[in-house]
Amino acid sequence: MENINKVLKNEANEIELIHSYQGACSNKDFYEFVKSLPIEENILMKYTSSLEDAMKEYKNCKNCKGLEFCKNEVKGYCYKPLKEKNIINFSYISCKYQDKYLKENEYKKNLELFDMPKEIKEASLTNVYTGDKSRIPIIRYFKEFRDKYQKKENPKGLYLTGSFGSGKTYLISALLNEMAKKKVRCALVYYPEFLRSLKSSFQTDYSEKFDYIKNAEALLLDDIGAENQSNWSRDEVLGPILQYRMQNHLPTFFTSNLTLEELEQSLSMTSTGVDKVKARRIIERIKQLAIPMELIGENRRS
Ligand code: ADP
Ligand code: MG
Repeated sequence: MENINKVLKNEANEIELIHSYQGACSNKDFYEFVKSLPIEENILMKYTSSLEDAMKEYKNCKNCKGLEFCKNEVKGYCYKPLKEKNIINFSYISCKYQDKYLKENEYKKNLELFDMPKEIKEASLTNVYTGDKSRIPIIRYFKEFRDKYQKKENPKGLYLTGSFGSGKTYLISALLNEMAKKKVRCALVYYPEFLRSLKSSFQTDYSEKFDYIKNAEALLLDDIGAENQSNWSRDEVLGPILQYRMQNHLPTFFTSNLTLEELEQSLSMTSTGVDKVKARRIIERIKQLAIPMELIGENRRS
């Protein structure tokens, strides 16, 4: 008796499924959508409601002009039916615009930012060529740098000085973005904040942070000289980082509002006294790592 009830119930369910599927097929869009699928009707019938959702997304995609116009549930993805044996699995599959976007932004995973605005990952050298003449020697050096880097000739980085807002950070970041596109792992570090954060992490991830900027394949120490000077930051942080990077031929870039002479002066004076020899040693290391250049330009900050 129980078995007969079960059979009858199954049959009723099946009839309901057929009805609901046939009902949905009276919609022309749904009908055309299911006809276009390489899936047999007896399987399709079990998934009417999900197929309706998939059809709506399919329709959205058909007329879509780009990611910014996406009307689907998950931006850049389309809910699609995929047949597996006798069942249908529904998955979100990325669309062509999303694939293009992911491809174009793949390089960003090679860029580690430390307290830098994330828009810096968009900085591009194509925006830099037009503009004033003081950029020309820098851009020329960038080309030389890239050529030498490719040939594993260990080119030096730059120590880029210049006034506030002249575009120093933007320029070096644009170069590092290009390097990231060539799969070089770059770190862009806002140095004064890095020091503060390093100082407060003695009990936690001090060595991870330290090793991370020591080992980056290409490094920007942004705004060096703007930090509070201490014996610790000069002798225990900056000195060893520069020493390590010199020994391992790791390209290192600096931006600063100070010239090297001014930086030397600043490094020599800490709260505990004056030490010209130690400051000199840091400057020598910077000169080993980077070529000093100046960027003259108006303040581009709005
Ligand atoms: P600096 O590091 O010399 O103080 P920034 O690199 O921060 O200057 O540049 C100042 C502002 O101008 C930033 O908002 C930056 O995004 C913008 N900027 C600088 N150079 C360019 C450029 N070539 N194209 C577009 N924006 C730029
Ligand atoms: Mg800057």
